[in-house]
Amino acid sequence: MSTLVMKFGGSLTADARSIQRVAQIILAEKLAWSQMVVVISAMAGATDGLARAAEMAATHDGVGYRRQIAAIRAQHVGVIEALFRTLPAREMLHKRIDHWLFDALTACDSIAARHETLPRDRDAVMIVGERMMADILLALVQAEGLRSALIDSASWMITDNHHQNANPLLEVVEERIERVMRPALTAGIAVLTEGFIGATRGGAMTTLGRGGSDYTATILASILHADEVWMWTRVDGIMSADPQLVPNARVIDMLSYDEIRELSYFGVRVLHPRAVDPLLPDAIPMRIRNPAGVDHVGTVIHAQSAPGGLKAVSAIDGLFLSTSQAGIDLPEVLAQVNHLVGQAATGPVITVQSQGRSTLVFVVPTSEGPGAAAVAAQKLSAALPLWEVRTVKVIAAMGATVQNNNLPGIKALASAQGAGNRRVLAVAPEDVQAAVRYLHQLF
Ligand code: ASP
Ligand code: MG
Repeated sequence: MSTLVMKFGGSLTADARSIQRVAQIILAEKLAWSQMVVVISAMAGATDGLARAAEMAATHDGVGYRRQIAAIRAQHVGVIEALFRTLPAREMLHKRIDHWLFDALTACDSIAARHETLPRDRDAVMIVGERMMADILLALVQAEGLRSALIDSASWMITDNHHQNANPLLEVVEERIERVMRPALTAGIAVLTEGFIGATRGGAMTTLGRGGSDYTATILASILHADEVWMWTRVDGIMSADPQLVPNARVIDMLSYDEIRELSYFGVRVLHPRAVDPLLPDAIPMRIRNPAGVDHVGTVIHAQSAPGGLKAVSAIDGLFLSTSQAGIDLPEVLAQVNHLVGQAATGPVITVQSQGRSTLVFVVPTSEGPGAAAVAAQKLSAALPLWEVRTVKVIAAMGATVQNNNLPGIKALASAQGAGNRRVLAVAPEDVQAAVRYLHQLF
């Protein structure tokens, strides 16, 4: 008996033609696997659009959020018209879409009626993207004759009430999966379910944080003891560098769980931050696959690290703090930084104390948004007058001991050799491209 869990990212449901392709993949894979679960995410841009509608509701912009929801409706209706020829199918789906969007509208109304926005209301708005796409895909594969069922994730993904970033209660989740999903799977029925969405025991809707459908898929894979989990997306896999910085960047064949976690820490946007964790106990392999790249197997992520040299070079915003004060109290400085800028500075990823100077380098997570490094640097330099504070780029070269800090023509402001053969360097922002290119060609 073989079990596959696969997730389709929003980039693959952006238009009718891509959705058709997704349906074909589901049909084809069902022939190859005895048990299959398909995790569905919202159409590209839908979750952003819904989040924007909730923002508008919070500022009491009633015209704005109604327009926003109407635009989302138009997109979905367009896709339905293109995919379904018969009137009854179209009408059924229009009704479903309107039903969900009415929920979103009601949630926006209640946000607008309050003085503060509750994360619970935001969740109620943001979940409808997955709901709509799940209905569309189910109708599509059923029209093709696939024995399939949509099992609402609110019936099994039971979470705590940490709205917008909820934590699955894994024991309950397992018990629910066995009860509501296993019988269908055993009967050979392909199961579709919404990613990203959960519910509290009390029935309030929650979400697992942005990109959460990855996490939905890996939790399912772990509880079902799946053979593999596949993340279908627009890219061929995880790249050895950002192709915008390095034109000849290539797809990495194999990475370990640790390496993928490191890469996301250092700014490579691949997966939901917690998505790898459920795969560890059974060492379930994960593949990143692109439907357009048929001749490409994509990146496989599993327990072992492939031997060999440099695997990836990444770059992310960072903060460089340096002082010539004698005898700094490191724990105290770290506590101060944390107090001043919180999550906007994680690390330190480099700590150098030598020749009367202390230097610390932090990473600014991409989740903090594009301007976060500059804002954090301003706060820190205002509050820490004895420190030189500057924004930098933190470069991580994974899988190789890069001996030389003196990259040709580039000054590394600080550097450190980390665990797992990782070299971390801080460079001035204007040097990032040259530095990444230089390190990448060391392969
Ligand atoms: N639709 C959600 C988001 O855009 C969840 C996901 O795509 O994984 O964040
Ligand atoms: Mg996504």
